[in-house]
Amino acid sequence: MYETIILGAGASGLFLADLLKKDYLIIEHNNEIGKKIKVSGGGKCNITNKILSSKNYRGDNEFIEKTFKKFDNYDLLNWLKKRNLKVKELKPNQYFFNSSNELLNYFKKIKNISFNTEILDLKDNCVITDKGEFKAKNIVVATGGLSFKTLGASAIGYEIAKKLGHNIIDLKPALVGFTVQPSEAWFKKLSGISLKALVRVEGFTYHDNILFSHRGITGPAILNASLRWDRGKIIINFLPQKSVSEFLKNPHKQISTQLPLPKRFIKEFLNQICIKDKKVKELKKEEKEKLKLLNAYEFAPAGTFGFEKAEVTKGGVDTSEIDEYMRSKIDKRFYFIGEVLDVTGELGGYNFQWAFSSAFSAFLSLRR
Ligand SMILES: Cc1cc2nc3c(=O)[nH]c(=O)nc-3n(C[C@H](O)[C@H](O)[C@H](O)COP(=O)(O)OP(=O)(O)OC[C@H]3O[C@@H](n4cnc5c(N)ncnc54)[C@H](O)[C@@H]3O)c2cc1C
Repeated sequence: MYETIILGAGASGLFLADLLKKDYLIIEHNNEIGKKIKVSGGGKCNITNKILSSKNYRGDNEFIEKTFKKFDNYDLLNWLKKRNLKVKELKPNQYFFNSSNELLNYFKKIKNISFNTEILDLKDNCVITDKGEFKAKNIVVATGGLSFKTLGASAIGYEIAKKLGHNIIDLKPALVGFTVQPSEAWFKKLSGISLKALVRVEGFTYHDNILFSHRGITGPAILNASLRWDRGKIIINFLPQKSVSEFLKNPHKQISTQLPLPKRFIKEFLNQICIKDKKVKELKKEEKEKLKLLNAYEFAPAGTFGFEKAEVTKGGVDTSEIDEYMRSKIDKRFYFIGEVLDVTGELGGYNFQWAFSSAFSAFLSLRR
């Protein structure tokens, strides 16, 4: 019988093992640790952010704040510094490694890992795997979300939680692009075009790049919007600098020459609203009104690109049934950490920060 079994050698499981130092076993079905860490942040792992609060997350604010009181972004940066793991602010407020391998190489010293071992089920405090059964005093579920099956994602964490009687908040892909309805088919014709826009959804605003794709629309501002969107409309301001009328000051010049937008975009947009590219003085009153859509283009996405393209899974184990040390209130032998919980962050290092902060909370209880 083990003292602690950690299910999953991903971000949260590895961090917890490093804190515990002994008396644990990790069970992992991949043949290596941290496959998501490896590919994260374009191979540079965006580990955390200078600005951190529960507002950067979808989930229970109080639960998230309590977790960050125990271990926040500065604690994580200190933890890295003490281990001589160097990170740089490669994008405003966002910390990256030179290569994700630097973090993975550090974690490679973690010894007690049963690789190539598929977790199949749970019977009481016994983990059933394809390599046999493992019993433990404490079981920590760190199996992550459903996104990127190719990197090892599975539903086992949610299945274990359900078996214990936990409620699972609806699981949906997040930090993912949107597919579009036929009314937005024009987006697809713009595949490859990127521009800085303001995206509004459910009271949240994201000012960042959007990228048109052959499937619909993506890019950082859209990925963040997908975290907040469940159904209904989103609004894009393609000209966040100022109102369209302020750009169309010269009556003798064409619309397309006065707008600071890619020509291909303007052509398709004008086509969509049935206006010819012409001199501003030739625009009718109702056409001027239509052009205002550039500052507030409203549409309902058809859906998302799905779990295979999503960076994370929103929803998860209901945190009202988890104590502040990530321990199940239903069965105290179980802990849940990382993405399997109903806490999902925006882009910018917030999901690794959550994986590490939640692991730290579990550690405080497990070391007692
Ligand atoms: C392409 C991509 C890029 C990302 N980039 C960033 C980024 O730059 N910054 C950021 O903050 N977040 C990023 N994320 C999100 C981040 O990787 C996750 O939120 C984080 O890894 C979650 O940690 P976790 O420990 O909960 O789960 P994971 O890290 O996913 O670990 C879960 C582990 O459990 C194992 N497992 C699952 N099921 C089983 C089973 N049945 N049997 C045995 N083992 C199992 C998996 O193989 C995996 O090793 C990215 C995600 C993706 C997909």
